[in-house]
Amino acid sequence: MSKIPEDAIKCLDKGFVRLVDSMGGDNAIVQAARVSYGKGTSKVSQDRGLIRYLMRHRHTTPFEMVEFKFHCKMPIFVARQWVRHRTANINEYSLRYSEARDEFYLPNPDHIQFQSALNKQGRMGEVSDQLKHKVHKYFKEISDRSFEIYSELNNDGVARELARAILPVNLYTEWYWKNDLHNLLHFIGLRSDSHAQYEIRVFSDAMAESVKAVAPFAWEAYQDYAVSGLRFSRIEQSILEKQLPNRVVDDILEDIAYQITATLHVNKPRSESDIYPLYKKQGGLDSEEDFRLKWDSGEIQSGNVRELREFKEKLFSLKN
Ligand SMILES: Cc1cc2nc3c(=O)[nH]c(=O)nc-3n(C[C@H](O)[C@H](O)[C@H](O)COP(=O)(O)OP(=O)(O)OC[C@H]3O[C@@H](n4cnc5c(N)ncnc54)[C@H](O)[C@@H]3O)c2cc1C
Repeated sequence: MSKIPEDAIKCLDKGFVRLVDSMGGDNAIVQAARVSYGKGTSKVSQDRGLIRYLMRHRHTTPFEMVEFKFHCKMPIFVARQWVRHRTANINEYSLRYSEARDEFYLPNPDHIQFQSALNKQGRMGEVSDQLKHKVHKYFKEISDRSFEIYSELNNDGVARELARAILPVNLYTEWYWKNDLHNLLHFIGLRSDSHAQYEIRVFSDAMAESVKAVAPFAWEAYQDYAVSGLRFSRIEQSILEKQLPNRVVDDILEDIAYQITATLHVNKPRSESDIYPLYKKQGGLDSEEDFRLKWDSGEIQSGNVRELREFKEKLFSLKN
């Protein structure tokens, strides 16, 4: 079984993730999207805007144009969770064909904890050194003993495909794992989340490094809209509609009118005399005098016009 290659990210005590190959990046996403939206210009800022639009509207197929192939080595119990992600292409080290190696996961003492009382699928709390020592000792004992028996059965000529069944799930396995960006982001979203088991999170976080490098705009958009974005259910929205006073919504709408004006001005600079009318066109309510005061403060942020307008629509729908 492979030692940790130089270009790999080490994971747990003996595992790793290594990006073997990738196809495309942010450019492949916009290239594919422009087929559906017609040809457009391809300034970097526009590429970023388009990727963010696609992510926001869950137009996912352009993200499937980017491919990643990883070589990974992980304990079998991690692979059991990993393999549930059905859209990947996998080729795994065969214990029918090859002999197992004496490589078992022994947890780092920092990650030996009690069963969580709050989450049935989690751990918590500080375990005594004595208990940590016992856990470590048992992991080592069972790994060593099972491998001894496995080797003995191998030497007796017992079929490898049967002898392997004696080995525990902390044995390391390895595979090539290929997936597209859309499904890889879905994997990372689930497996880098704090609810995922620590041992798989380490691998997911390592793969995330490759995504950041290969498709930085897509990664950023995924963080902004999928990971940090909030969705409100119908029930939650009706509570917001009832509880959020119109004046608060109006204040936010006013801020947005300023931000849209600033963004339009950044994108295509206007003459001084055209800026106030532009702000009024965005629904701004301030008098020209107040507008000048705020505008000249230099504190108005620009953003993405389309995104700000979408937000404005959502806010309008909350007004009663
Ligand atoms: C914290 C956590 C706890 C979990 N606990 C358990 C558990 O206790 N028991 C358990 O069995 N599993 C558990 N799982 C696994 C989980 O139920 C999913 O099987 C796993 O996360 C894969 O998710 P997925 O199906 O969305 O991903 P993928 O298989 O990668 O699929 C990606 C997307 O493709 C689509 N898709 C793929 N295949 C099909 C299909 N055949 N039909 C329709 N759509 C499809 C779906 O939209 C899916 O979301 C857990 C997962 C997590 C993250």
